[in-house]
Amino acid sequence: MLKHVSSLFILTLFISFVSIVQNSETDKLVAAMLGHTQIQDDLHELCDKIGGRVTGTEANTKAIEWGIKKFKDAGVGVKKEAFQMPSLWDEKSCTAEISGASNFSPRVVSRAFSIGTNSAGLEAELISVGYGTDNDFKNAGDKIKDKFVLITTDELTELGGLFKEYNDAHEIEGRAIAANVKGVIYMSSRPKKLLFRHLASRGYNNTLPLVVMARDDASRCIRILDKGGKLNLNLNIELTTGGSYTSYNVIGEIKGIEKPDEIVLIGAHLDSWGMGTGANDNGCNVSLVIDIARQMTLLGIRPKRTIRFALWNGEEQCICGSYAYTQQHEKELDKHIVIASIDIGSGKVTGFFTGHRPELEAETKKALETVTSLGPFENADVPIVGTDNYDFMMQGVPNLVGMQEGANYCSDYHCESDTYDKVNLQNLKINSAIVASTLLHFANLDKVTLKRQNRNEVQKMIEETKLEVPMKAFEYWEGWLDGTRGRKP
Ligand SMILES: [Zn+2]
Repeated sequence: MLKHVSSLFILTLFISFVSIVQNSETDKLVAAMLGHTQIQDDLHELCDKIGGRVTGTEANTKAIEWGIKKFKDAGVGVKKEAFQMPSLWDEKSCTAEISGASNFSPRVVSRAFSIGTNSAGLEAELISVGYGTDNDFKNAGDKIKDKFVLITTDELTELGGLFKEYNDAHEIEGRAIAANVKGVIYMSSRPKKLLFRHLASRGYNNTLPLVVMARDDASRCIRILDKGGKLNLNLNIELTTGGSYTSYNVIGEIKGIEKPDEIVLIGAHLDSWGMGTGANDNGCNVSLVIDIARQMTLLGIRPKRTIRFALWNGEEQCICGSYAYTQQHEKELDKHIVIASIDIGSGKVTGFFTGHRPELEAETKKALETVTSLGPFENADVPIVGTDNYDFMMQGVPNLVGMQEGANYCSDYHCESDTYDKVNLQNLKINSAIVASTLLHFANLDKVTLKRQNRNEVQKMIEETKLEVPMKAFEYWEGWLDGTRGRKP
């Protein structure tokens, strides 16, 4: 149970780096990142004091101002960039009552962009449809029309399971809409009574009440239903909803001295779901991005190219902040040498996802050679859908996503247990050094051979990696086809 980085640990790391002759800027930066910094205090302020930061809420606004102040205090140039969020959604309360063969109040939480109910709640019979496969829905036939369907899930233990969860939900919600059910109740994929919040698979176009029920409570319902008992569910979801509104990305910048118009960018999303305090997702990496900017400034590092530090907003709801950046900075995108996202908690960085671009993988490998003692490293040359690299990737910009050990990312992911004490602070320090040296490598390259891809090249990447499947699961496919989200022909 890690609560603080031991000073002995920092000292050991620090000495092992100081003992390497610090003859390069990279060595100095790495030593600074591994030494004592404010990264832990920043994480505490953002997560414990500001707390969960759903885009559009007061806490999110506080987080924006906090991020601006952090860059300013560090002497880093900063501005906030406005963009429009499509619609406001936040849960005020979500409760449920089971009646019939048993009477109890299961723990529930709505999925984001769930439809709300009136104050009397929405009542219907609860019917178990197994895992909600195509066969399960076919077998259920007409009897689930206007009923709540209860979906069994497996417990989430690794990242692969998370992507499966997203894919399955997209298909299940499609079947549920076709079957005219009253709403979908997912068994929580987290143990015991833990709840988490995921996005409705159709995002803000969702038309159904969707909730997650505590695993223990859902299992109890299923045992009763399997024995032939009948259950009714009364669901009461009170929401704050509204139309389009303005939100902000926070963009810090250290200007390059030789090629200031060429940009290397690192980003992490500032927003979170509101259940926990968004610590592993993604407060720890917001703190990491800020700390890299701070240490570079403290050391007086002036890279050849400009380095931008982005705290994205609206990521959880629609990846809207980074999308807006790619629209607002469209004319500059040819000059974005590489962008990186870091969004898989505080598991140790073991390399980068390099987006099916061998030339980028090769250069990233060289970048990681500057920190071999923090390895071993191995990149995975595959594209990633589901975080802030997405719109850059679709615009053909060379993009990296930090590849991280799962650690406890899955068990707390989007969960009420995603709090400060779950962050692995030792890894966070090491990760900050790895990411900082990688950024500096790209910002100081003598010659850049990485090129922005045209639409045909992006299309080829999509085909070669079968990216259509996750793009459809995240509802991005149409946007790519109609040119609203991605490189224009
Ligand atoms: Zn995230």
